[in-house]
Amino acid sequence: MSNTTNFILGDYLAFAQARLADALAAAGRQTGDARLLAVSKTKPAALIREAWELGQRDFGENYVQEALAKQAELGDLEGIVWHFIGPLQSNKSREVAEHFAWVHSVDREKIARRLNEQRPAGLGPLDICLQVNISAEPSKSGIMLEDLPRLAEAVLAMPALRLRGLMAIPAPTEEPSAQREPFAHLRQALEMLQKRFPDAPLDTLSMGMSADLEAAVAEGATLVRLGTAIFGKREAASR
Ligand SMILES: *Cc1c(COP(=O)(O)O)cnc(C)c1O
Repeated sequence: MSNTTNFILGDYLAFAQARLADALAAAGRQTGDARLLAVSKTKPAALIREAWELGQRDFGENYVQEALAKQAELGDLEGIVWHFIGPLQSNKSREVAEHFAWVHSVDREKIARRLNEQRPAGLGPLDICLQVNISAEPSKSGIMLEDLPRLAEAVLAMPALRLRGLMAIPAPTEEPSAQREPFAHLRQALEMLQKRFPDAPLDTLSMGMSADLEAAVAEGATLVRLGTAIFGKREAASR
C-alpha cells in the first residue's frame, strides 16, 4: 500500500504555516518573528521545487552528497536558501562552505576554522548557528553550555563566518512543559551571548521540530525546522 496517495504538499505546508502563526499569536509575538525551515532530507528535488513554488524559501538538508545532487537540479530556483543542519565531518566542510548559506551544526572550533578558510570570498559570510547539547546527553552532538562562550568568541573572530545564534535538538519528550525547559535554556544562553558580545548579529534561535514547534515558539524560536509536518513521513530506513 502506498503511503503517499493522501499526501498533498500544499495542505501540509498551509497547516504548518497556520501552526506557526497560532503559536506566535499565543506567545504574544508578531507574525514574521519566526519562520519555517523546511527540512527536506530524504525527499526528492521535485517536492522542494513544489514547496518553493508555494513560497517556501528556506530548506534544510542533513547529508552533503544528497543535498548537492538536489541543488544541482534546483539551480534555477531564485531566492532559495540552503541550510546545512546535519552532523558535519571535517572532510565535508569544503562542500558545505561552498554550497550552503547557513550551517546550524557547528559545535567545535576546528570545523569553524575550516569553514572560515574554505568559504569562497564571492559568496559573502556563511551564517552560523552553534549547536548546543542542551539536554547534556553524552552521546549527542553539540557543545556543552559551559564551553559555549569560548567557541562563540572564536567564531566571532572569523571574518568569513557570521555568528547568528544557537541551535539545539533536545531529548524528545511529549509533555509540553518538559518540552519548553530545554528551549528556555537555549534562549537564556543566547541572551547571555548577546550581553557578552553586544555588537554581534546574534538574532537566531534555531529550535523546534514537527513534534514541539509550539513549545519552541513559546520560548522564542526564530527558525523552526519542520520535516514531517511539511513533507510527510520519511521512509523508516536509518534516516
Ligand atoms: C530531521 C530533522 C528535523 C526535522 O524533524 P521532523 O521531526 O521531521 O520535523 C529538524 N532538525 C534536524 C536537525 C533534523 O535532523
